[in-house]
Amino acid sequence: MNNRKIIIGNWKMNPRSLKEAEKLFSEVASGVTSIKKTDIVICVPSPYIRDLKKLSKKIALGAQNSFGSDKGPYTGEVSPFMLYEIGVRYVILGHSDRRDLGEGNDLINKKVRGALSEGLIPILCVGENTREENHEYFNVVKNQLEECLNGVSKNSLQKVIIAYEPVWAISTTVNHKDAHPTDSEEMSIFIKKVLTDKFGIKVVLPRIIYGGSVNEKDALEFLKYGGVDGLLSGRASLTAKKFIQIIKICEALNK
Ligand code: PEP
Repeated sequence: MNNRKIIIGNWKMNPRSLKEAEKLFSEVASGVTSIKKTDIVICVPSPYIRDLKKLSKKIALGAQNSFGSDKGPYTGEVSPFMLYEIGVRYVILGHSDRRDLGEGNDLINKKVRGALSEGLIPILCVGENTREENHEYFNVVKNQLEECLNGVSKNSLQKVIIAYEPVWAISTTVNHKDAHPTDSEEMSIFIKKVLTDKFGIKVVLPRIIYGGSVNEKDALEFLKYGGVDGLLSGRASLTAKKFIQIIKICEALNK
């Protein structure tokens, strides 16, 4: 397993212009020059990728979606090969924003396999919308994992990053609630069990990260007690100072 901790920013459909994107990206880049032990990824809107790629060697670029096939009559879609060719190395798949737009596990599965076949690292988001008292949310996450990872080889599994993102804790969810590191720790253990059941006891497990309103104040707690190998940050990643702080907190823990 890749033991390096990883901090991933998800800019979503922000900022509004390339100029603003370059400013934000450059600010983050100049704040992380001393970082050595933490992988840093920012998943940006596709039109910004080529320009931002030139601004930093330390920050890897991620996309926020990719299609499952290489070429063909798929108006509006972008293939993983096209992304890889312009320097993208990671891609967020299965994010709740896209599930809200109608993406289901079958489509996400095609995208995960397509990404892996072109050398992109899928950041596979899983997570329940709500937490019912009967603990049905464990089954939700189990189904997402099993269906989205169908047909993925044992060898490829270790390249994937699983992002546990309980939708109820994401900053843009109406009336969102803060998750506690124990919520993430419990789910991380459960995810490992589901993966071991599916792929066998000897499988090399992928990195598991947590996302949901993480900020510079609670990042330490999630990294220390959340049972995860890193964080996925949405809103906080849009403020250079906050995102740099989160990265530095992670780096300090690695020493
Ligand atoms: C996300 O939507 O992937 C996310 C983690 O967002 P936020 O940090 O804003 O909750």
